[in-house]
Amino acid sequence: MYKIIDGKIISGSVKDRVAKEVAELKQKGITTGLAVIIVGEDPASKVYVANKKKACEALGIISEEYALPESTTQQELLALIDTLNKKESINGILCQLPLPKHLNEDEVINAILPEKDVDAFHPQNVGKIMLGDYDFVPCTPAGIMEMLDYEGIDISGKTCVVIGRSNIVGKPMGMLLLHKNGTITICHSKTKDLSSVCKKADILVAAVGRPNFVTADMVKDGAVVIDVGINRVDGKLVGDVDFNAVKDKCAAITPVPGGVGPMTIAMLMQNTVTASKKQNKVI
Ligand code: NAD
Repeated sequence: MYKIIDGKIISGSVKDRVAKEVAELKQKGITTGLAVIIVGEDPASKVYVANKKKACEALGIISEEYALPESTTQQELLALIDTLNKKESINGILCQLPLPKHLNEDEVINAILPEKDVDAFHPQNVGKIMLGDYDFVPCTPAGIMEMLDYEGIDISGKTCVVIGRSNIVGKPMGMLLLHKNGTITICHSKTKDLSSVCKKADILVAAVGRPNFVTADMVKDGAVVIDVGINRVDGKLVGDVDFNAVKDKCAAITPVPGGVGPMTIAMLMQNTVTASKKQNKVI
């Protein structure tokens, strides 16, 4: 019998913890603030930003939204980031990606002060993750680690396979599992015989972006399967894992929706309160 790893419950416990930390800071006269920048009219980005704002409000974090027109220039965007870098009441800055094509994402990410980079995309924070000495971790892999910890799933010595090598999910995911003494393999579109690599995994993380990509023949009996994928098929959200075919082989599995998704925003809130604590020298 498989166990469903419930992202709604686990993200709820993270949010409770964050709300408590925010309240404790408030008692010391310290506020926690997050600035979210969105450029253009991308509907999915707008939904993400609205959800982040709602989460901030629920936890006592001050949120400032900067909705800039599609025509914003690189200079204008960098000027706003410079202002927010200097603004004391803002502890975290997030620029919603993807940016419109005429803007240089790397330059924007590099412009955010590393101590306010709550997405952990700045090269300095990326390097710290590699070294295993970090304050912020990209929210999705951080959320997955939180889920494994909550479920008491021991990583040490386990064979961990991550499908996908993006900078925001696959690569940092591999690093975090390695820091917990997992034996990691990161797979990608050029991996040979993916199925047999995945079949060895005690912990399998799928971050590919293809609906129902992971099939039952790719999963070892008793594996823990984490589905990061968010794909829309006929208006319905589905993951990268063929859930119905795979679930009975698993010891535990995350659903889509209601799995990894809710964890991402919760971890953003966690990173923001951590930023506030660091900047105010509370930790
Ligand atoms: P990405 O497109 O940047 O990376 C996809 C990765 O999959 C690439 O590294 C690629 O090499 C690999 N890949 C593609 N085809 C493959 C194949 N045939 N075999 C093996 N590997 C293959 O995507 P991403 O940003 O890492 O996101 C992955 C998925 O996770 C998407 O569905 C995205 O929407 C979702 N996502 C979810 C959350 C969340 O909060 N749940 C957060 C971020 C991303």
